[in-house]
Amino acid sequence: VPFTRFNHPVDWTVRVLADPAFGLGTATTELASAFPMAIAGTAAGPADQGELDASGTHSVTGQLVDLKGKIAVIVIEAAPAAFYSDAVRQATQLLANAGAVGLLAIYNLPGNMQLMLGACPGTLVCFTLGGEDGSFIRALLERAAAGGTMNTLKAELRVTRQPATALQARVLMVKIPGREPGENIVVSAHSDAYFEGANDNASGVAALIALAKHYAHGPKPRHDLVFFLSPGHHSTTNGTAALMSFDADLPQHNLVLLNLEHIGQAGVYRSYMKSTTDRYGRRSATYVPTNWDSPGREVTLSPDSVAIRAAWNLAAQRNAFTTPALINGPAIAEPAPFVAAGGTGIQNVETGPWFHTTGDTVAAISPEGMQRAALFYRDFIDNVDRLTRQKVRAITDGSATSMH
Ligand SMILES: [Zn+2]
Repeated sequence: VPFTRFNHPVDWTVRVLADPAFGLGTATTELASAFPMAIAGTAAGPADQGELDASGTHSVTGQLVDLKGKIAVIVIEAAPAAFYSDAVRQATQLLANAGAVGLLAIYNLPGNMQLMLGACPGTLVCFTLGGEDGSFIRALLERAAAGGTMNTLKAELRVTRQPATALQARVLMVKIPGREPGENIVVSAHSDAYFEGANDNASGVAALIALAKHYAHGPKPRHDLVFFLSPGHHSTTNGTAALMSFDADLPQHNLVLLNLEHIGQAGVYRSYMKSTTDRYGRRSATYVPTNWDSPGREVTLSPDSVAIRAAWNLAAQRNAFTTPALINGPAIAEPAPFVAAGGTGIQNVETGPWFHTTGDTVAAISPEGMQRAALFYRDFIDNVDRLTRQKVRAITDGSATSMH
């Protein structure tokens, strides 16, 4: 599949510059967590937001303050939902309109992780910063304001991007023929990642492989089972759009497309028994993963289907699987092209604090959570396998619906 429009950064530095005005011991400091934001509108950005990038009205008016020639600093609360928020995008456009030349977006996160989030207007140079570098910048601004050296405070932001190139990516499709050919169930997952990507999306790929093995070796399913891996997250390779190039009729005969996305994120808590010292010498409570799942999940389903919701809820109850009380529509991102072509899409996406960060490592995965998820998805597929497309499509209103 074609893979284009990716101006990805290859080299960068963010340095806060030393100045004698700050007194003895002033030294230029390079910020280790600085990571270049994607350029807005290129779909190179946090691909999970790619679908949102392409549509909607983004209008900006007014000028808050004169930021001509300045580097703006914003602080973003790292509640999982904020990662999907348009607020950062709107803020960056507003700052660009006010004349800013650069942006440091501080994400209030533990440690000093690099993160790939947000989107930056082409006229700005934008970086995200992890928690500790963010605290350093905030302390610096406070000290400079108190000491009257605000105008002396300077930073240098530099990024080199690779020009957008036409690339090719490979997708993988596996079909397990059912006892009654004609209708199908699709299981998909994106196979690429930012940083280590243990949860996003090695977890989804692992479950997909386990399910494919299970159905390849076990009793034959009633309906055709199709397993699909695609790279490029959702926007750059158009997610499930490439699936139709193998079999254009799949969506019309589809019972459900299940997208496996971020399924193994461990829940975390902050331990008062175990403290740590950060890079700036502050004592802080350590984040400890649990053997249970992160609660930050969102289930989207479209078109709405009473039969699919029943299959989902039954599997959740039987497997003690964490699922939110609200199922939303429409299906976004990866399943969207397949749904538009006549399929039914469902996904349950977890977005913990490590989403799109260097913290998305295997340490943040719950093995027990992965097992529960795999058993839940197997049970869900078995439940759907008892249905027909007619039953799945019996009641369709497309609105957000409460599960209970
Ligand atoms: Zn993902």
